[in-house]
Amino acid sequence: MSLKNLPQFVIPSQAVDYTEAVLRDYGSRRFPREGFVYWGGSRNGDTSTIQLVIAPHLDPGFAGVRISAMSNASVVEALSIRSMIEVAQVHTHPNGWVDHSCGDDRLAPFRISGLISIVVPHFCKRGMLPLQVCGVHRFTQDSFERLSNYYVRRYFRIREGSAFFCDLR
Ligand SMILES: [Zn+2]
Repeated sequence: MSLKNLPQFVIPSQAVDYTEAVLRDYGSRRFPREGFVYWGGSRNGDTSTIQLVIAPHLDPGFAGVRISAMSNASVVEALSIRSMIEVAQVHTHPNGWVDHSCGDDRLAPFRISGLISIVVPHFCKRGMLPLQVCGVHRFTQDSFERLSNYYVRRYFRIREGSAFFCDLR
């Protein structure tokens, strides 16, 4: 695979804003908890563009992140009516550890090849930019692999721009 054929990602600034707002909301509650959003968008050749942030309903009776089948059905519907695909999932960890836990691997709702999973440290209190402060993972074959900071810096581009927000909380 030549360098220019590697998957790359364009993320509008407003998608980052929506994502940070949702993640911080979960992390700043009296009993802080991990937050989670999906990123929907489109793929054209090697480039995926984020266009939609979806905040699913999280199962309240669970310490980590668990999303009901019902809420995920609404997520699929939200993508489908806009003719978008799921490009990434983003969730927080309480501390600075941004690798994928066993639960993260096991409970990721849609494990499709190429899916990106971003782990944001410290309940997103300090934000998610630059993206290298996060753990950025990609699902390939049957497991998530963490991408190098070099890859993230080079192939994930934040651009001034707008995005849609779908709040299912
Ligand atoms: Zn996790």
